Amino acid sequence: MSTTRTPLRILIVDDCREDRELYRRLIARGFAQDHIIAETETAEEALERIATAEPHCILLDYRLPDGDGLSFLSALRLSHGDGHIPVVMLTGGGDESVAVQAMKRGAQDYLTKSSVSAESLRRAIHGAMKRVAEQQQLRRSASIDELTGACNRRWLLERLREESVRARRHRTPLCVLMLDLDHFKRVNDAYGHRIGDAVLEGVGRVLRTTLRAGDFAGRYGGEEFCVVLTDTPLAGARVVAERIRRQVRALEVGAPDGSVIGVACSIGVAQADTGRDPMEAVELADRALYRAKATGRDRVELAPPPILPITAAHA
Ligand code: GH3
Ligand code: MG
Ligand code: MG
Ligand code: MG
Repeated sequence: MSTTRTPLRILIVDDCREDRELYRRLIARGFAQDHIIAETETAEEALERIATAEPHCILLDYRLPDGDGLSFLSALRLSHGDGHIPVVMLTGGGDESVAVQAMKRGAQDYLTKSSVSAESLRRAIHGAMKRVAEQQQLRRSASIDELTGACNRRWLLERLREESVRARRHRTPLCVLMLDLDHFKRVNDAYGHRIGDAVLEGVGRVLRTTLRAGDFAGRYGGEEFCVVLTDTPLAGARVVAERIRRQVRALEVGAPDGSVIGVACSIGVAQADTGRDPMEAVELADRALYRAKATGRDRVELAPPPILPITAAHA
């Protein structure tokens, strides 16, 4: 998750200033790696800060002015999903029994304040981050479509939602492509399902090798794929879509009779950073795809830019 070049971002949630300073000192002693520490005193503040601080790990006090660490864990789960941000709980004397509850609600580890040291804190933070990374890897491998190596539809839509929130927050462009193979039924009819599958495998390979890190593709249906391009405006998305179209066109799959099978695809492109439900963008891309089919196939079509509400500045 973090390398020596990425500063480690830690959020300390504790209403006691001396304790926060202690953790700062212990982190400075325990970690050779650069780190950025954010602090909040209340649970409510912490939930807000997560969006901007994007912590790799949260150090959470059990007793907070506006509730306890357990209710914070439940709120965190609601707002950021289950087990996405590693949490280490710090309990005061006599609070040890809550540790079990904390682990049940998604904390990765706990330490008692009276015995925390630079080494135990470093180990707890590293362990918590490692466990969350492993859980994410596991979830990811469970969400890969075996044939094409693309992610499955559920995972794709979940990540598209996350990316659309991020795009809005950072004001970065985001685009969606819908891709459907042309006359694919003919490939199956002429050469059989197994050759059809080999073609789909090839399309998965094209997507994997064409996309940048940060972009991702999912198998949306049988021979239909959805691609999410992060930090990419519509004009850039058109270029990527054209590249994918050409590379799918260049795919060659050998048939048992020695012939070489080629396939083409049509692609619809839509902008997804409009602040609306990202499913709207998927639908717009789908409509553009339909136009690409209707106007000859083996083409890329752009969805018209969305009509945004007039803001006060323009009124
Ligand atoms: P169009 O250009 O209009 O998209 O024509 P098409 O033949 O691709 O479209 P249609 O929706 O009629 O057919 C899609 C075909 O995709 C149906 C099925 O034979 C094939 N298909 C869907 N999933 C799989 C799969 O997992 N493996 C294989 N081999 N074929 C699949
Ligand atoms: Mg406290
Ligand atoms: Mg189809
Ligand atoms: Mg098709």
